[in-house]
Amino acid sequence: MNLLIKNANVFQNDKFSKRDILLRDGVITAIEPELSVSNNFNGHIARYDHFFISRGFADIHVHFREPGYSYKATIEQESKAAAAGGFTVVGTMPNLDPYPDNLPHLQEQLAIIERDAVIKVIPYGTVTIKSQDQELADLKAMAPYVAGFSDDGVGVENGTLMLKAFKIAKELDLPISAHCEFPDKNPGVIHAGVFAKKHNLPGISSKSEWSMVQRDLEMVKQTGCQYNVCHVSTKESVALIKEAKKAGLPVSGEAAPHYLILNDEELEDLGRFKMNPPIRSKEDQAAIREAFLDDTLEILATDHAPHSAEEKSQGLLNSNFGIVGLETSFALVNTEFVQTGLMSLETLMQRIMVAPRKFLKLETELKVGEKADFVVFDPKAEYVINSNNFLSKGKAMPFEGKKVKGKILNTFYDGKLVFQNHEM
Ligand SMILES: [Zn+2]
Repeated sequence: MNLLIKNANVFQNDKFSKRDILLRDGVITAIEPELSVSNNFNGHIARYDHFFISRGFADIHVHFREPGYSYKATIEQESKAAAAGGFTVVGTMPNLDPYPDNLPHLQEQLAIIERDAVIKVIPYGTVTIKSQDQELADLKAMAPYVAGFSDDGVGVENGTLMLKAFKIAKELDLPISAHCEFPDKNPGVIHAGVFAKKHNLPGISSKSEWSMVQRDLEMVKQTGCQYNVCHVSTKESVALIKEAKKAGLPVSGEAAPHYLILNDEELEDLGRFKMNPPIRSKEDQAAIREAFLDDTLEILATDHAPHSAEEKSQGLLNSNFGIVGLETSFALVNTEFVQTGLMSLETLMQRIMVAPRKFLKLETELKVGEKADFVVFDPKAEYVINSNNFLSKGKAMPFEGKKVKGKILNTFYDGKLVFQNHEM
């Protein structure tokens, strides 16, 4: 592909400035304030006066469901959905069949990625075999191919095993990404919040999350292993992460759009409001928002988790946990934080591109000489979220019908146009 982009707002070195970008055969050959081409230039010239360009967004927490659950989603379809959301790299969680808990199992997933993915897909290996908390997975054998280790979907209750995992992951220089959740002793008594109480639904207590964060942070202190707290949902977890960062521990935290934007007073008894951890109180929401603004939760991650329509049609009590989010993440956070003046667009780039790419040890700058890997977007373009338009096989999400600003226009990965929503 040959393309000259004129006058775009290009994100480089933490800020946007007006630049032209020249692509030849999909490779970026120049990024300059002003570029021109000869009359016999064999390609498109696109004027992007109102458009913005950043290195492709990254989401370190998604579920692509293969191998094992292709009735819910496939790597091909979900990677296209990711591209539609402006993402060119994702980390896929290992609650699959087979679980990637040794090299042969992981290779099944790698083969599908190699064959079908339109963007970069980096799997996580499990911490324990089948995520069953009994025996450690073969972390060493999987290390060259994974983003890190996680038993996402469940918490690793066994502290002895978790400590061993931390030690090995530290040696391998890979992070552990933890879904923190101890099982509630009295799940019917401890409520998730106002909604659960009112409707007499069993909740998942805040303590189930923060008590595991607290335990893990002690092990991070002991081992120095890099540690990421998945989908933070409680104010107590936020306080613990903040304190750990102050102490200089290698800790990061994920904020997901739904915990930033919703609280439990806004829940409806529908499957599309059900995810784990649950949407919590106004106070929890306020703490997460503050932490997202002040860099305590520096990684925006969707926990994109497609299920079949049937699995999401059983109300709050009986539907499966999980909602989709890749195609709306940028627009939701842009609308809620950037367009309202709470956050700069540059800071949103830190949350959705720089920090998650750094977590994956990937380049964050657009580089001359590299194949095109960037997203073109219009932060002012308005539309209404309609899941019928999603490329994702999963449709359930709580923001159906919401008016948002921020359209992804084109996504380039590996020198190719992998999503086109705008004629050049
Ligand atoms: Zn999780």
